Amino acid sequence: MRIPSAPCWPTAAQWSTFNNTISGKLVRNVPIAAPCYPGVYEDATKCAAVTGNWTDTSFRSSFPIGYAYPYTESCDLPGGNTTLCSLGDSPVFAVNATTSADVIAGLKFAREKNLRLVVKMTGHDLLGRSTGYGSLEIWLRYLRQGVNFEKTYITTPSYNQRTTPLWTGSAIEVNGGYSWSDVYKVAVANKVIVVGGGCPDVGAIGGYMQGGGHSPASRDFGLGADQLLEAQVVLTNGQKVLASPNENSDLFRALRGGGGGTYGIVTSAKIKAYPDSKYTSQAFYMAPLNASGDALAAFMEAVALIYAAFPTLNDGGLSGYGTWTSYSIPNTLNASLTYSLGAKGKTIQQVEALFQPTLEKLLVYNGTALNIAVSYATYGSYWDYYFSTSGVNSAASANSALVSRLFTKDNLSKGAALRKMLNTTAGTAYEGTVNGFCLVSGGAVFNSSDPFSGVNPVWRKSYAYQYTARGWLDTADYSTAAAVHHDITYGKGGALREFAPDTGVYMSESDWQDPYYLQDFYGSQLPVLQAAKSKYDPESVLYCPTCVGSEEWAVTSNGSLCKV
Ligand SMILES: Cc1cc2nc3c(=O)[nH]c(=O)nc-3n(C[C@H](O)[C@H](O)[C@H](O)COP(=O)(O)OP(=O)(O)OC[C@H]3O[C@@H](n4cnc5c(N)ncnc54)[C@H](O)[C@@H]3O)c2cc1C
Repeated sequence: MRIPSAPCWPTAAQWSTFNNTISGKLVRNVPIAAPCYPGVYEDATKCAAVTGNWTDTSFRSSFPIGYAYPYTESCDLPGGNTTLCSLGDSPVFAVNATTSADVIAGLKFAREKNLRLVVKMTGHDLLGRSTGYGSLEIWLRYLRQGVNFEKTYITTPSYNQRTTPLWTGSAIEVNGGYSWSDVYKVAVANKVIVVGGGCPDVGAIGGYMQGGGHSPASRDFGLGADQLLEAQVVLTNGQKVLASPNENSDLFRALRGGGGGTYGIVTSAKIKAYPDSKYTSQAFYMAPLNASGDALAAFMEAVALIYAAFPTLNDGGLSGYGTWTSYSIPNTLNASLTYSLGAKGKTIQQVEALFQPTLEKLLVYNGTALNIAVSYATYGSYWDYYFSTSGVNSAASANSALVSRLFTKDNLSKGAALRKMLNTTAGTAYEGTVNGFCLVSGGAVFNSSDPFSGVNPVWRKSYAYQYTARGWLDTADYSTAAAVHHDITYGKGGALREFAPDTGVYMSESDWQDPYYLQDFYGSQLPVLQAAKSKYDPESVLYCPTCVGSEEWAVTSNGSLCKV
């Protein structure tokens, strides 16, 4: 595919003509921090605004090349790891699409000119799937044609015939590049629950939904991908089609967990909505009493006890999120584990009783080696629970690598292997490793009877996944960053794989460097997804790293994409 330095890259006149066909919505991309550097974009007022909002993911999303977690910053704030400011791997131009027609025009231009094409909604992707060197971007952030509640789901007529819906409950129609925060407002107003991101500024119907999507509500209602009832999709041939159980059902299936940016561009989707419910939360904290080896050993033993309890807790109704780190670094990290779980429709007494056997095992260490605190609360609605226990945006940051792994009940029952894996992924002092667990599966996610699911089937038997992350300083050189990433992929990632060899990963929160990504991300769905890719995007107009179809491409030394 053509890159900007190629002689056949579109001329200025061709870009200008294209811009006219889309009513001036073509944007020449400029790095967000460019106003902070000498040159034509230098602007002290804008630089102050960029500096003040640098870690705000919503702020970053408002730029065509703003990303929540870039691997490295090619235009950091001055004083960071760059002294120069460049586009790096970011797209050169973006179509600020506000209508489906803009999306179609962008696809057509990219196809005709053989340009690398990138689709971006919020830029929250952790694997670089919404960026790409020398590319044209279809930017969906301002494709906003409404978020509508349907008390009873209305099937979109297909060929002017109404088909019998497989879902007779409520639905929300998300018409464009909205974040979950936009959808949640409609859900709250109509007293319904939707399965959306724990972080509200993640995009609703882009990479989140199409990649699987977990939530504080996923245990109770299924993954984000399972919620999709139908979608309007612009195919790379410029055709706009409906994907539903009755129409283009193979595309529908691929969009329900087979990964974003791959089969077509979703411009609108309807998702399931459920009656609101009471929730009870459990907040847990534990930390070693001191930095002695005995206290840290007790801490790791307690972490293993909690992991081993996941299946029982989850079968009893609990799900949620936790993080832990086992080393203390002054002013940075404190060895501790915290989590927040919740159970739909349970009382505090029921959740206490469910946790009691685990608590008794943990209390052996309380006051001797560990400090343990548990508290409970009840909420009259899911949204009170959600906004009290999660529902906040994370800070944007660069320079980190992350790996993850899903765990089954069988994995978690193997005590010695569990302790070995935890001790390896805990890392060493001053490495700054952070671990987290997402106990977001089980329950409704274990329903494996949906014939239109494109999700890696290992989700249907895995209760939780762990992610393990390390970062590096802004000032770190390339080899330091590469060494940290190598440890994440092969050291920590190797330990996770050895512990749970037959599972896989949550594709949207894992390692773009995973050497086994096809198996880990897609599992046994891969042939079905590859068939959908060949059928709906036969020319591979859509490419993103680790996405289905990317296995047929390689990035060459000059940055262009070539068929392998
Ligand atoms: C702070 C933070 C919090 C997160 N919290 C959660 C969470 O609670 N639960 C969870 O499951 N995940 C979570 N994630 C992961 C998140 O789901 C993924 O990063 C996801 O890819 C983001 O999708 P997006 O569309 O918002 O981002 P983008 O970066 O814009 O896009 C991601 C991918 O989707 C494609 N895409 C986007 N829009 C479309 C479209 N309309 N049609 C076709 N392809 C499209 C892009 O091409 C790209 O491949 C979180 C990530 C971050 C950074």
